[in-house]
Amino acid sequence: MQNAATESDLALRRRHAEDAVAAAMLATRSVHDLPGEIRGLLKDDRSPVTVADFAAQAVVVMSLRESAGGSIRLVGEEHPDALRGEEGRPLLEAVVAAVRTARPEADADIVLDAVAAGTAEPGPEGFWTLDPVDGTKGFLRRQQYAIALGWIEDGVPQAGAVGCPHLPEGHSGDVSVADPVGCLASAHAGGGATMRTPDGEAASIHAEAWREGDPIRCCESVESGHSKQDRTAAVLEACGGRGEPVRLDSQCKYVVVARGQAHAYLRMPTRADYVERIWDHAAGSLVATEAGAVVTDIDGRPLDFRHGRGLERNRGIVCASAALHPRLIAAIANV
Ligand code: AMP
Ligand code: MG
Repeated sequence: MQNAATESDLALRRRHAEDAVAAAMLATRSVHDLPGEIRGLLKDDRSPVTVADFAAQAVVVMSLRESAGGSIRLVGEEHPDALRGEEGRPLLEAVVAAVRTARPEADADIVLDAVAAGTAEPGPEGFWTLDPVDGTKGFLRRQQYAIALGWIEDGVPQAGAVGCPHLPEGHSGDVSVADPVGCLASAHAGGGATMRTPDGEAASIHAEAWREGDPIRCCESVESGHSKQDRTAAVLEACGGRGEPVRLDSQCKYVVVARGQAHAYLRMPTRADYVERIWDHAAGSLVATEAGAVVTDIDGRPLDFRHGRGLERNRGIVCASAALHPRLIAAIANV
């Protein structure tokens, strides 16, 4: 393929993604430490999330620009409109304070410019896609959320990092409890997947092999509106047995499968017309794939990142270890 990225290009992009996400983790964590009055400054009770979303997007853009030594193309989830004008000022001030925990040079102009730079459209050239705070509801519950940054080239995620500020690095940790340190997983195409604490040494991670008869430990959304939990249960029973469900928000689900803590992650559509967003899957699906899992939609089709901001040609998600994946696809077709 012409202009195909070399392994070393992708390894470098992965490092840039890790640096950007690790910095953004500092900023989102600082939002949790904000005094309660910050909510009063803002309009509704989504506000602390809004601060974290904008702050993470600004930090990621600033970090990637520095790594790239120039301009970048980033399709982020957030738009800067809510930060503009007199009305946006209190929110902007809170965002600048959060950004400064990672980027002390930040001011209002720098932050506005950085958030705005994260609103590119997907195109035929390679681009970054970012969910600055994936798992909004988990963030609000002080449970799991993720900062997910993926590099998409030729319609496929090829490098990326998933920061999980509340996910314990150890496998035995309870995923419903917020860990004070968190962890960061990353991957590039052909380069395997690793995990580390934000400041620690990276270690390879691998999806767990599932054997016939093993009760299936499966990740799913906490929010029942995001994935049909009764359908997931029926599919797992049809595959020979359902283990204790692992419910957690965000792309932390892909990380939990990638490190062998669960056998699968199922996302069964709750509505026929819901289109998954590229930033909800780019980085996480790459980490799981590079750890040896298989990721497709519920019809067994590869995820297709060639159609703008949505996975327009796919429905739902099936991520599972290689032996289990075909069983799940067959069961979904029959249940
Ligand atoms: P989760 O953490 O698994 O609950 O997923 C969070 C993501 O679900 C958010 O980033 C949203 O983009 C996405 N989402 C919102 N509405 C839906 C829906 N109806 N079905 C599936 N995903 C959704
Ligand atoms: Mg999201």
